[in-house]
Amino acid sequence: MTRLPRVWVLSTGGTIAGTGASSTHLSEYKASTLLGSELLAAVPEAHRFADIRVEQVVNVASPNMTVEVWRSLALRIDAILRADPDVAGVVVTHGTSTLEETAYFLHLTVRHDRPVVLVGAQRPATAISADGPLNLLNAIRTAAAPQARGKGVLVVMNDEINGARDVTKSSTYRVETFRSGELGFLGYVDDDRVSFYNASTRRHTADSEFDLAGVDAFPRVEIVASYAGGSLAPLHALVHEGVDGIVFASPGAGSLSDAEVAAVKAIVASDASPRPVLMRSTRTGNGRVTNRAAFDALGILPTDNLSPQKARILLMLALARTSDPAQIARIFSEY
Ligand code: ASP
Repeated sequence: MTRLPRVWVLSTGGTIAGTGASSTHLSEYKASTLLGSELLAAVPEAHRFADIRVEQVVNVASPNMTVEVWRSLALRIDAILRADPDVAGVVVTHGTSTLEETAYFLHLTVRHDRPVVLVGAQRPATAISADGPLNLLNAIRTAAAPQARGKGVLVVMNDEINGARDVTKSSTYRVETFRSGELGFLGYVDDDRVSFYNASTRRHTADSEFDLAGVDAFPRVEIVASYAGGSLAPLHALVHEGVDGIVFASPGAGSLSDAEVAAVKAIVASDASPRPVLMRSTRTGNGRVTNRAAFDALGILPTDNLSPQKARILLMLALARTSDPAQIARIFSEY
């Protein structure tokens, strides 16, 4: 008999581990009540595809996810993959609200080419037509699939495979919530096989330069929402707090209002040091933010096509290595 591929399932909570008062409670339920071992117990079919090990990392709703948990998850995945060459891949069960952020952090910091697959659910485990069990089975099958190697961290839900860099939660309650915008899915999971059609061309995982060893505290990077008639108070408060970086979630192609530009000019002219690194991202969900002479002159760098929440993660990791604007620009063009 051939041995089954070994897959670890690391559990962190979320709706997939949530329970409600009845099968028709689809939005009123308590997230993060079940353990990973209980999620697995609901999917006995998974044992036909993989030799599975389960571990509980935390049990939180994903709005409560933290950079510290990201760090321990990345280090734990690294330890599992390093210790056992027979591990085919790792699945992380996670709440969907911030799943894409954890996925992107791991995409940049887990330096192995074996697949790491994030999975969640839109309906709690007690719901009629709960989506968690099939999502979990498909995630395990993807983590066990040789063709998933080298594709970076993946998000598998609703039979669809998305890449960590481009995926975003796009709908509050629909099961087809994870989308990669204009760039599209990487593949599908059907009952006969796991199929890939696309792969990200950007650096990630085994090819990443971001090393967590020696990084005990991450630079603090925050997001400022930019919108018509917006207040400058959040920007001033963050600068006053001495944050290391600020990403503007800007309208359109990363534009700023005249008032924001004037505020940035004042920040740049002040001798308060250190000053945060400032970046412009787009809130549109698709397309690139490019260099523009007027913003470049103020040192406000573009984030390419990363969403504000992904740009924040990349800037955090970049600032842990360098504060040189040319290096930060290089990093945003390569990752
Ligand atoms: N509140 C949940 C969370 O942990 C939502 C979900 O899992 O879908 O993100």
